[in-house]
Amino acid sequence: MPALTNADVARVLGTLATMLEIDGANPFRTRAYREAARVLDALPEPVARLAGEEGALEALPGIGKDLAQKIRDLLATGSTGLYDELLKKYPLELVHLTDLQGLGAKRVRALYDALHIRDRAGLEAAAQAGQLRELPGFGEKLEQKVLHSLSIAEQVSGRLLLAKVWEVAHGLADRLRAVQGVTRVELAGSFRRRRDTVGDLDLLVCGGTPEQVMDAFTTHDRVAEVMARGETRSAVRLTDGLQVDLRLVPGESFGAALLYFTGSKEHNIELRRVANDQGLTLNEYGLAREADQSVVAGRTEQDIYRALGMDWIPPELREARGEIALALEGRLPRLIEQDDLRGDLHMHTTRSDGRHTLAEMVRAAKERGYAYVAITEHSKSLAMAGGFDEARVRRSVGEIAAVRREVPGIEVLHGLEVDILADGSLDLDDDALELLDWVVISLHSRLDQPAEAATARVLKALEHPAVCAMGHPTGRMIGLRPASPFDMERVLERAAELGVAMEINCQPDRMDLSDVNARLAREKGVTLVIDTDAHSIANLDYIRYGLFVARRAGLTKDDVLNAWPWERMRKMLRKGRGGAVKPAEPAKQPAPSPAKTPAKRAAKPKSAKTR
Ligand SMILES: [Zn+2]
Ligand SMILES: [Zn+2]
Repeated sequence: MPALTNADVARVLGTLATMLEIDGANPFRTRAYREAARVLDALPEPVARLAGEEGALEALPGIGKDLAQKIRDLLATGSTGLYDELLKKYPLELVHLTDLQGLGAKRVRALYDALHIRDRAGLEAAAQAGQLRELPGFGEKLEQKVLHSLSIAEQVSGRLLLAKVWEVAHGLADRLRAVQGVTRVELAGSFRRRRDTVGDLDLLVCGGTPEQVMDAFTTHDRVAEVMARGETRSAVRLTDGLQVDLRLVPGESFGAALLYFTGSKEHNIELRRVANDQGLTLNEYGLAREADQSVVAGRTEQDIYRALGMDWIPPELREARGEIALALEGRLPRLIEQDDLRGDLHMHTTRSDGRHTLAEMVRAAKERGYAYVAITEHSKSLAMAGGFDEARVRRSVGEIAAVRREVPGIEVLHGLEVDILADGSLDLDDDALELLDWVVISLHSRLDQPAEAATARVLKALEHPAVCAMGHPTGRMIGLRPASPFDMERVLERAAELGVAMEINCQPDRMDLSDVNARLAREKGVTLVIDTDAHSIANLDYIRYGLFVARRAGLTKDDVLNAWPWERMRKMLRKGRGGAVKPAEPAKQPAPSPAKTPAKRAAKPKSAKTR
């Protein structure tokens, strides 16, 4: 067990205090935990050393016998019984709601009791639906305050989630496209590079009269403030705080402006160096000869890249991570596209915490043109989310078989999103895991474990032969919760050896793995899987955000498991990862499933033969 730092221990004690408050514990008790957290945080010597000295912890101000014992437990095992017990009742997403302005523990508890709210998404939906104001002690003012603090929490040091900006950005662009005489409208900046958060929006427009273009721009119903209005440039602030700049650009330099305002800054610097080496200058107006300033290219990006002797570089790759060298050599990867995807392997239904039924989700996936889908409810330690225990998994076998009959024309994998417990074991017994075609393992609790414990935990979980993929691997929530500090390289190396896929989770506040980690995964030989983790039919659209991450990571369709045709998937499942996973002991064989998909049929005999 690695030594916990003072900050580690203080953080757990602080979280404990909040959980006790939510639980309605005696205020003196919660205050004692908070005080202890403060004392430890400010302590100059390592608490781990004091714990080894007889009576040294107890000598600290505000730390009695009981708290001292809890601290010793924490140092010895990384947890305490009380913490584990409370975490089962109050997941960290719920606990963190108390960080929002206007919401204390009492109100969070009331929201939980009355409206079953347990995370930010649920809170936002309820507040927008006007449900908060109805609760005793809340009112309309507080509802507004909550919405406001949610929008602030969303901004990651002034940035908004890409998904939050997506609709308004396209709405603005469409409005401008409709202006008479306008021939081109592009959204540039980090939005075009598909970063997971956006600082501001840059719109480039070609054609139309300045008067009409600027009118259409500044009168959009989401504009809260017009900050500047001119002939060629205007700037507005939207109601959610986002700043949008619009530039009117002439056709002959549109490509140069688009290149310049798309960035990244680092990409542009490297590109200018390439130009200079060839006796050319590159700026937002065009590519020109240094000698006489005669223009070589500028109308389109393609013209400019071509004139520099390189392939056009997709915006997602423009981060100065080696893409310019590849483009010069004609070796850019063919990035994966939406049409390459054949399935979605992580989603929930009303059987756990999803909003649509099993049949509705399968039908929606089929309508999107997918050839296969995996239904992955939660496992039992997420009790509040309707997690499945072993008996529920057994009942599910028949439900999946029924939906296969009800919705033909799409392969349905019987999956589950199984919690990785604090010690790295899985949340279901092997007999239940054996009934599944597709096992995703996820970290949902104890994400605050220190690095070494977290690494050991994940490595142990990966070893289980039932595991097919790891869901939202780091557990990060953008702007809310940092990534689990496990050793990413070691985990990826082991995942590659074991043939466990790593997920790019498409939930807009997760985007996990990130582009950087997905790129690393590919370098380590890991197969990636892009999943929506949909909790509703509408969520299936989130697939685009995972695709953006994959493209920023430079992935091709060969790197992504759910871009494989069903035949290839089926063969992979048959090899032992997924499908029948345990040595087949005839006496312990579960009742044969009525399901008759190729995956099941293929998996069973093969595994019986090889083991
Ligand atoms: Zn999950
Ligand atoms: Zn999930």
